[in-house]
Amino acid sequence: MAPNTVAVVGAGPVGCLTAIGFAERGYDVALYESQPESSFTKQPTSSQRSINLAVSVRGITALRAVGGAGDDEHRSIADQVLSEAVPMSARMIHVHDADGHVRLDRQPYSTKGECIYSFERAKLNWMLLQQAAEHPRVHLYFQHTLVHVHRARDNDEVQLVFRVPDRMEPARANYGLVAACDGVHSAVRTKIAPLARINTVQEYIDSGYVELRVPPGKSDTLSPAWQLSVSCLHIWPRHDYMLIALPNVDGSFTSTLFAPFRVFAEHCRDRASALAFFRDNFPDALAVMDADELVEHLTSRMPSSLGSVQCTPMHAGSSVVLLGDAAHGMVPFYGQGLNCGLEDVRVFFEELDAALATHGKLPDAQGVALRNYTAHRTADVRAIQLLAQENYTEMRSKVVRRDYQLRKWLDGVLTRTLPSGAWKSLYEMVTFSNMGYATARCNELRQQRILRDTLSAVGLTLLWGASWAVYRACRSA
Ligand SMILES: Cc1cc2nc3c(=O)[nH]c(=O)nc-3n(C[C@H](O)[C@H](O)[C@H](O)COP(=O)(O)OP(=O)(O)OC[C@H]3O[C@@H](n4cnc5c(N)ncnc54)[C@H](O)[C@@H]3O)c2cc1C
Repeated sequence: MAPNTVAVVGAGPVGCLTAIGFAERGYDVALYESQPESSFTKQPTSSQRSINLAVSVRGITALRAVGGAGDDEHRSIADQVLSEAVPMSARMIHVHDADGHVRLDRQPYSTKGECIYSFERAKLNWMLLQQAAEHPRVHLYFQHTLVHVHRARDNDEVQLVFRVPDRMEPARANYGLVAACDGVHSAVRTKIAPLARINTVQEYIDSGYVELRVPPGKSDTLSPAWQLSVSCLHIWPRHDYMLIALPNVDGSFTSTLFAPFRVFAEHCRDRASALAFFRDNFPDALAVMDADELVEHLTSRMPSSLGSVQCTPMHAGSSVVLLGDAAHGMVPFYGQGLNCGLEDVRVFFEELDAALATHGKLPDAQGVALRNYTAHRTADVRAIQLLAQENYTEMRSKVVRRDYQLRKWLDGVLTRTLPSGAWKSLYEMVTFSNMGYATARCNELRQQRILRDTLSAVGLTLLWGASWAVYRACRSA
């Protein structure tokens, strides 16, 4: 294989953006994908993948940096996402009051009116795949399922082995550089980990999810009609479980029920139990859903698992780099899985460009770039994995608590009154900036300390003042 030919395994959004990044730098790219091309042109039918995603600043920055800024004739993918997505500027919390009534509480995401963008996952993937396929340096191989990776003994080359339908013999090809973008169950990672001593920790949580739908409302015009407020990500927090809904351009909402597996087993057995569960917990959601479709989805779909995968390092020698879910599956509760994966691609190419500028030629530069990528990314990836886990508690439970609402209010006041950038809520640092996730987490811990110390000082002052007043009153009596 020519030295400047690279292999990218997996044509998901991360793999396609990686292929574009290499092609733009003059590499010939072999992009391998296990699915047939036709599976990218239609909506996914399984319940395994989310239908829509919340895209935020990191994803957009990476799409622009690696996928290009567009020109007069072609709008960039970042611009298409921004113009065709549904912007969401707030969480709409559907609070279940003790008297059984549902009350709406709109909680804006940002003090500056910034939004996250609900966009179809399949469409984003298709747009990136098209851009990759149109590049003369990218060669696509569909229905090529990676089954083995062999590492050469005396150099860092790897041999990839693919299963291809209707072929007796597997296809084999050798590469000096392989980008593993084959998702959370990455076959490249699994095969290379024992050879390169990559430590992998996989954890599942006790909750799973099933995707549901709120159909579009009736409209007298050609414009779609949404049955819930369109500019919000809707959350029905119910402590142990929650329902969420993200708007789609056609007027529908993609809704997801996240719950412990025992809840699915107990409450989604049959039509009667599923409807009773929704009537008791999500009556206003039930009112806008198609009851037959809801029952069908709840009783016939197996809840999908949720978990995370950590691996260190995120590369093997100077020839294999892990990007996207292949490097760091995470639970979806911060809406950052894909944003983080696209950011991996941006960071990787920054490291590659820097290493090429310093070390000139490929094999040396490649080794440096891969090492620096792992060094740069490990703490950030771990930070967002932890934040994503913590956010599950926030979304299903904390959002209705008074201490949480007080903290949000204080964040807003301090962001507006302190000099620019001195105070930012954790959500804003994670979602509306490109600040390292680890730095954002560190800043948040510092802000929590300041608030705790200030509130204790205020409390002590009040206590001291009250004691003094009581003492004076007793003395003068
Ligand atoms: C319910 C849910 C909601 C989510 N919401 C959000 C959100 O709001 N915002 C966000 O940023 N992220 C979200 N995510 C995460 C996001 O979906 C993933 O992070 C993202 O899809 C990962 O992209 P990827 O390209 O790394 O992997 P994938 O999308 O999994 O793509 C991997 C590709 O590799 C191919 N492949 C797999 N194995 C092989 C093999 N052996 N050989 C060849 N090809 C192979 C697959 O067919 C696939 O095309 C959510 C996830 C879930 C489950």
